[in-house]
Amino acid sequence: MNLALLFDEDFVTADRAVLTGRRLTHLHEVLKVAEGDLVPVGRVNGNIGSGRVLNLTASRADLRVELMETPPPPLPLTLILAMPRPKMFRRVLQTCATLGVKDLWLINSYKVEKSFWQTPWLSEEHLRENMTLGLEQARDTLLPTVNIRKLFKPFVEDELPALLKGKRALVAHPGTATPCPSYLEQPAVLCVGPEGGFTHYEVDKLEEAGCESVHLGARILRVETAVPVLVSRLFDACR
Ligand code: SAM
Repeated sequence: MNLALLFDEDFVTADRAVLTGRRLTHLHEVLKVAEGDLVPVGRVNGNIGSGRVLNLTASRADLRVELMETPPPPLPLTLILAMPRPKMFRRVLQTCATLGVKDLWLINSYKVEKSFWQTPWLSEEHLRENMTLGLEQARDTLLPTVNIRKLFKPFVEDELPALLKGKRALVAHPGTATPCPSYLEQPAVLCVGPEGGFTHYEVDKLEEAGCESVHLGARILRVETAVPVLVSRLFDACR
């Protein structure tokens, strides 16, 4: 937790917030803060800054909060991800939030098992919890939007073309002829397949909608590895 993300319900006045639970445990056990110390904080979908620890007990920390800086800029990327298996999904979601992905679409694909859609990790509460962990890692505050589409064909035919307008549209697909571009200077849409990959039919449909198939070299990467590799190749975070 490189920043404690504060929600409306944490504020008791405009500049006072109370931390309990996981964030309080982190202050005690990892940061080992004392009264008077400053801790990095941010307001969800707002600015980042610091919180002065006014009172610290085993059950709560009272902070005086000053939020003067803007969070890091969002990635100009729409990420369309075939729903990963639940164990991986949680990690991928956190990674997406850490990398600055703000527009995430979870879609069905032939090789997505039906049971994946039943995971509790897709509940509003768990989505928020995991995106919060990812944002706190990156010192960011802007919660991503997560869209869920459980039917591949209607999504690709009816919604995808509008999402691609004015953007570079790519589908990461191993073994294809074109290398993935790098250092894009324009917004992009990126589709990433499931553990077993997109089928030929699905790649054809994505291409019909306007996506270009690209590869990352001969090594086949797990989704949780492919996402950060693709994102950092498309958008250089050091610029
Ligand atoms: N056997 C599957 C295939 O050949 O498509 C492997 C799927 S891979 C584990 C999961 C997803 O990560 C792929 O659908 C693709 O979107 C992305 N990916 C992984 N390695 C890649 C590579 N070398 N080039 C392009 N995309 C890759």
